[in-house]
Amino acid sequence: MSSVPVRVRFAPSPTGPLHMGGVRTALYNYLFALKHNGTFLIRIEDTDQTRFVPGAQDYIMDALQWCGIMPTEGPGLGGNYGPYVQSERKEMYKPYAEQLIAEDKAYYAFDSAEDLDRMRDQAKTMGMPNWQYNSVTRSGMRNSLTLPQSEVEQLLAAGEPYVIRMKMPRNRDIRFHDLIRGWVVVNTNNLDDKVLFKSDGMPTYHLANIVDDHTMAISHVIRGEEWLPSAPLHVMLYEAFGWDCPEFAHLPLLLRPDGNGKLSKRDGDRLGFPVFPTNWITAEGELYSGYREKGYLPGAFINMLALLGWNPGTTQEIFTLEELIEAFSLERVSKAGAKFDPEKTKWFQQQYLRAQSDATLAEQLRALQTIELSDADLQQICALMKERATFPQDILTDGAYLFGRPTAFDAETIRKKWKPETAAYIQEWKSIVNSLTEFSAQTIEVSFKTFLAEKQLGIGAVLLPYRLVLTGVGAGPGMFEISQFLGKEEVLTRLDLGLAEVEKILHEA
Ligand code: GLU
Repeated sequence: MSSVPVRVRFAPSPTGPLHMGGVRTALYNYLFALKHNGTFLIRIEDTDQTRFVPGAQDYIMDALQWCGIMPTEGPGLGGNYGPYVQSERKEMYKPYAEQLIAEDKAYYAFDSAEDLDRMRDQAKTMGMPNWQYNSVTRSGMRNSLTLPQSEVEQLLAAGEPYVIRMKMPRNRDIRFHDLIRGWVVVNTNNLDDKVLFKSDGMPTYHLANIVDDHTMAISHVIRGEEWLPSAPLHVMLYEAFGWDCPEFAHLPLLLRPDGNGKLSKRDGDRLGFPVFPTNWITAEGELYSGYREKGYLPGAFINMLALLGWNPGTTQEIFTLEELIEAFSLERVSKAGAKFDPEKTKWFQQQYLRAQSDATLAEQLRALQTIELSDADLQQICALMKERATFPQDILTDGAYLFGRPTAFDAETIRKKWKPETAAYIQEWKSIVNSLTEFSAQTIEVSFKTFLAEKQLGIGAVLLPYRLVLTGVGAGPGMFEISQFLGKEEVLTRLDLGLAEVEKILHEA
């Protein structure tokens, strides 16, 4: 790599919440910057005022913060290349557009929206559905290349609306190297004369993006594949200004789980998983769900995203942020679209939940609801339940019987597993429990197994009924650990209450 200091940017437009794909773009920029001791900055691209959505910028900053993707320069963060919001840089862009006009690399166009519609319609009736304002058609339009200079000056002086368009050269191959895709060659005959600047004083995305990347000394442009078609124009603009081009890396698309098309913002809630990092509520009150509010840990979300389009070249799957920084390289980002896998995402969450200390988990549970248990008890519950939980919430719901006596009993399993002799076994086991002087999981287990051996019973004959009576459900953590946690007195009480419940259920049947 060149010796230019690495400076990368994430440049979202505040047109709505940040899609998961956008977070991945930010993440790859961040990892790349830190890997190369560089700078990661955020720039808000809000030149298209018609698509501006209030609250979107705050959403983006908040979501990145939750993910732990921290820019060192950006709105509200300071930095030597600010302002970092394009609308606040508005005055900067016009001289650049005028420079291109002066050098005959761009021109004023005065065609009205109606003129352009008419041209498109005419072309359509002639069998050309994709009319473009380009190096051929521009000669028949109202612009500073076709009108006398005096008229152009008059129109400008009179405040006639105009746009400034790029004057694309005819029939030239534009070549550039993409760090992920290799060499890309596009002939200018396939490109139109894009609008760079509008008479409302605002640049378009293309001009603002190039001017800002240059003036912010961006070394690498790492962005989504949807911007690849714009890259040739950008390369032309760098050339037109006589600036060095940054390196480009266009990231693969995120695809739906079935691989059928791009993962869109509507897919998530439709297919049952979030596509946004955090909840987003539209002005109309419509909710798009987010990973944060679903109970995902940011580490799990980021770990999952990192591997969506990049691989470390090893079988390692669990990475801390530091490990990701160490392992990341653009060379290992794939060209092919990356299929999003909601099940794998849950798996990451499980791994991260398990890796948390019982104390941390206990705190998270207390944040979810008031829990009148001691820290020690709550932490024990966490230790018992975390292997089987995906979200902290699962500990509260699936382990409800650890917080209080069961209020519901799984009648179906009870009917299926209960034998005529089962109640008698449970009664016998109860008297053994009653006789125990030490009530640890280990002694309970030894006594239980001795009891089974004496009776010549298989473990299933009594253990599952014991579980059902004590907890109301047919699955959960180890019964001897649960017994120890509940304590002898509570186990005895529950055995009585549970047996009565079972009687009731069998009676009803
Ligand atoms: N503002 C563009 C976006 O919303 C940025 C594209 C780029 O990174 O150049 O994605």
